[in-house]
Amino acid sequence: MTRSCSAVGCSTRDTVLSRERGLSFHQFPTDTIQRSKWIRAVNRVDPRSKKIWIPGPGAILCSKHFQESDFESYGVRRKLKKGAVPSLFLCKVLTSGCKHNRFT
Ligand SMILES: [Zn+2]
Repeated sequence: MTRSCSAVGCSTRDTVLSRERGLSFHQFPTDTIQRSKWIRAVNRVDPRSKKIWIPGPGAILCSKHFQESDFESYGVRRKLKKGAVPSLFLCKVLTSGCKHNRFT
């Protein structure tokens, strides 16, 4: 099964093609504090429960939501820095203006 990015309005899928384009995909952290920062940053509501969306075990975010400075490089491979929090989300999908929040 192809996984896709969990960010609202982002439909990037984890495919060979995406990776060839230089995108990378990152699972939600297992650390509780770090994980809750990501959840807040994603700011997604579960359509059924109307509560804050909680990422499932396979939930991922694509590298579009991270700044260049959030990565460290090992040759051609990129890895998220420890403590990196996604901060770039698509504004245009929100109907009530841009709610571009930064969580630093
Ligand atoms: Zn994405």
